[in-house]
Amino acid sequence: MQKPFFRKLPFNFKHKHSPSSSPSPNPVKIRNRVLIITVCAVLITAILGSVCFFSGIGKPERVVPAGKCSSYAHRTSSETRSHAPSAASFAAKPSQSAAKAVCKPKKVIYLTFDDGPSTLTVPLLNVLDKYHVKATFFVVGINDKNEASDLKEIVRRGHAIGVHSYTHNYRQIYASPEAFFSDFDEMHSLIKNATGIDTKIYRFPGGSVNAYNKKTRKAIIQNLKQRGYVFFDWNAGGGDAVVHPQAAKILSEALTTTHMHDNSVVLFHNSSVKSVTLSIIPQFISTLQKEGYTFAVLNPSVDNHPFIFYHDA
Ligand SMILES: [Zn+2]
Repeated sequence: MQKPFFRKLPFNFKHKHSPSSSPSPNPVKIRNRVLIITVCAVLITAILGSVCFFSGIGKPERVVPAGKCSSYAHRTSSETRSHAPSAASFAAKPSQSAAKAVCKPKKVIYLTFDDGPSTLTVPLLNVLDKYHVKATFFVVGINDKNEASDLKEIVRRGHAIGVHSYTHNYRQIYASPEAFFSDFDEMHSLIKNATGIDTKIYRFPGGSVNAYNKKTRKAIIQNLKQRGYVFFDWNAGGGDAVVHPQAAKILSEALTTTHMHDNSVVLFHNSSVKSVTLSIIPQFISTLQKEGYTFAVLNPSVDNHPFIFYHDA
């Protein structure tokens, strides 16, 4: 028969100072002592638990999914006239600092290029390939002789593609919801015919709140949502929409505004006159990659709330 386990142990469990000749202790007293010790232990545990609960000690850190800790950028009415808001308009609100203290999101940049494709699209794709970065292209229909092949090339190299506008004519497209969707559908069809992609992402020329769509934006946005489209404005950019942009200024403003957020949708342009923008993209990307940012493409499942100007009242 196997001996009890404790007999194998090399040491004696008996208290060394217990005289072996002492009389056996009273079982009732032992039971009472055990009971008292148990009650005390329970009381101490309960008191400590209450103190920790009310002081926050021991409370698990709130788990925040990547992308949920980003700063929100809302433009003021004076900023809505510009396609590229100033750096100040991207400033994070003070109340967000507390939230940032408890969440450590992955820092994601959604690099976006408007107004292509153009003669600068393939050169830009080559730069993006070099840095292994995927971007999102919001495309137009009237600028490029090689429209279909450039659209295909954007998709072939793994980038996302979305509708921007066929004509990019503000007065025309924002004149009425009917005019808007006539232009929208034309661009959507062009993308689908060239690439086979039924894109569900969209960017308004001038942003969702601009000086041309005050009367029509609400109806257009409701209709877009009903059709299953998700639109994205931006919360960072280089201000490269101006006529004569300076490379150093674009790079500086793009980095400054991107650094203001954990997650950014960065606005750049890829029309044929934006060679200055193209020239700063390598340094923009390499700087942020060294700082730990990653790059991703937009899709309908990305929460657009932090990145849009228009919100229902
Ligand atoms: Zn545009």
